[in-house]
Amino acid sequence: MYVVTGATGQLGRLVVEGLLAEVPASEVAVAVRSAEKAADLAARGVDVRVVDYDRPQTLDGAFAAGDRVLLISGSEVGRRVPQHRAVVEAARAAGVALLAYTSILGAATFRLADEHRATEELILASGLPYAFLRNGWYTENYLGDAAGTVARGVVLGSAGDGRVATAPRRDYADAAVAVLLDGNDGNDGNDGNEQNRAYELSGDVAWSLPELAAELAKASGEPVVHRDVTPAEHLDVLVGAGLPQGFAEALVDVDAGIARGELAGTPGDLARLIGRPTVPLAESVRSALGA
Ligand code: NDP
Repeated sequence: MYVVTGATGQLGRLVVEGLLAEVPASEVAVAVRSAEKAADLAARGVDVRVVDYDRPQTLDGAFAAGDRVLLISGSEVGRRVPQHRAVVEAARAAGVALLAYTSILGAATFRLADEHRATEELILASGLPYAFLRNGWYTENYLGDAAGTVARGVVLGSAGDGRVATAPRRDYADAAVAVLLDGNDGNDGNDGNEQNRAYELSGDVAWSLPELAAELAKASGEPVVHRDVTPAEHLDVLVGAGLPQGFAEALVDVDAGIARGELAGTPGDLARLIGRPTVPLAESVRSALGA
């Protein structure tokens, strides 16, 4: 059985769709905190297991011996180590065949990376067969409000001209599917050796915020400029836009990491796993703007 946690989230939904394209629904299970949100999957024959990372007892029986499990990292920053520990414990107790985990690029030293490192340590200590999917940044992080950015005419950040090798969630999801399936069906074109490995997953091309501004301008036909601000100014803008203080601080800290080049690596693991180039920024910009 393939079991995906966080399957009602944005990445998880794409992973489940990818799995369902390859294997029967009877081989797919999701471990999610809301059965209601997964009702469409249940209707398609996916086994829905209700779990909450915060309540370890709900994870009893969520996994079985031989399962190939994808732990999609939780979204509650600051709480993720105990949450992930509960999942790793349950996977270890069940004796799963593979625990894949959506981690972060190895070069990242900003604070958001700490919980991922700690989770990798927990998985290593469990002795389970593992795959670390060290994901770089999603292209969508920059295009969630692409039309709004164009309307304001400004791409704002504190990363200077630091580069970031993004890929859309779909590419990362396809990589997760490739790793989950590998070694089981023999038909996925991979090398059958996806176990006990760390993948450095990023887009094929690293770009900078000035380049993003130029792409938005090109695709929209409107003027869009890049404005680099100090970390303190960036924080004020994010908090002013309604982000919680702690999360805004974490994002400013990420921009400092981007300025240091920590999300710029392009080792090619993602394209190799998915068997095609990653989706370029220009294409993502065009589809975000409907251009
Ligand atoms: P989402 O927020 O869309 O999905 C997170 C999923 O985790 C949701 O399905 C959510 O459940 C589930 N979840 C959260 N807390 C719990 C809990 N206590 N128990 C069980 N399930 C829980 O994020 P994405 O899909 O976009 O990204 C996946 C993960 O990647 C994020 O959670 C985060 O760790 C990381 N991330 C990576 C980024 C990057 O650029 N590489 C950017 C942002 C996040 P529910 O559906 O019920 O809310």
